[in-house]
Amino acid sequence: MLISIVVPCFNEEEILERFHTRVTDEMARLGHEFQLVYVDDGSRDATLELLERVAAADPRARYLSFSRNFGKEAAMLAGLRHAEGDAVVIMDADLQHPPELIGRMLEEHANGHDQVIARRTRKGDRVTRTVAARAYYWLINRLVDVELVDGVGDFRLLSRRTVDAVLELTEYNRFSKGLFSWVGFRATTFSYENAVREQGRSAWTFGKLLNYGLDGLLSFNNKPLRAALYLGLLLLSVALAYATWIVGVAMVRGVDTPGYVTLLVVVTALAGVQMVMVGVVGEYVGRIYYEVKRRPHFLVKASNIGTPQQPHTPQKLLRR
Ligand code: UDP
Ligand code: MG
Repeated sequence: MLISIVVPCFNEEEILERFHTRVTDEMARLGHEFQLVYVDDGSRDATLELLERVAAADPRARYLSFSRNFGKEAAMLAGLRHAEGDAVVIMDADLQHPPELIGRMLEEHANGHDQVIARRTRKGDRVTRTVAARAYYWLINRLVDVELVDGVGDFRLLSRRTVDAVLELTEYNRFSKGLFSWVGFRATTFSYENAVREQGRSAWTFGKLLNYGLDGLLSFNNKPLRAALYLGLLLLSVALAYATWIVGVAMVRGVDTPGYVTLLVVVTALAGVQMVMVGVVGEYVGRIYYEVKRRPHFLVKASNIGTPQQPHTPQKLLRR
């Protein structure tokens, strides 16, 4: 059985060699045949040079390098496309995903699980981030069809058929957490203690996280559109009830001097609600816009895997 390990790397020069040693040591200990698929996501540091060096020294390492930063989703997709293993493990290059857990994953895989998901605890996270994450997952699980679990990320093992299923989903706006959950198959989850990043720093800023969260919310169904519709109906009925009340009062007590503050508040609030709704619709239109363009998810500038493959060629045709 061949195990592929897919590693998206963005500006990871400080830790890459250590990562490679740790993983290869661990795999040697487990005694499995394996290959590493490094994807350099347009790093601006020496990541590519390091990958070239690592690959020259170790034939089990393959790499490809993007022409610019396309994001981790694209990097994972590229890695999955080029992974030949019977099982594929996706892990971060920053050693926050302990290589020691691969053995556990392989065990669970041998027990017949198609996805073995490592779920990190939130130990060591800032309290604000923990609370925000809790609230987000509470909300999102009420809104989307697929199940998303807090602490569950991209660190997981996928069986060959799961990888093939994920590769069938060719959408441009990729939200992997949801895609992995969407394909189904037999999945199991185990917890591990989160390791603090040793070197470099997380590429996730608050803004990026917020946008990522929104993507998750909007990527799976049209429930936000539904919600907008219901909210509109609710506001309409409130307005109608209020109008009836005003007219009633005016008929009984005569016309009162109307408060312009109330008026102003209602008008601005409604304008705000309308803008939010247009925004929601706009998000979907924007997604359609990107999908219909059918642009490739990434462009490859360097690789030791042979000719860069056509992004839209179905995976089945590519495998030897
Ligand atoms: N990464 C990537 N492209 C990006 C940002 C990150 O390939 O645009 C990689 C990064 O090199 C790392 C993994 O994705 O291997 C997770 O990134 P990071 O550690 O910054 O995220 P966090 O651990 O904070 O979620
Ligand atoms: Mg990290």
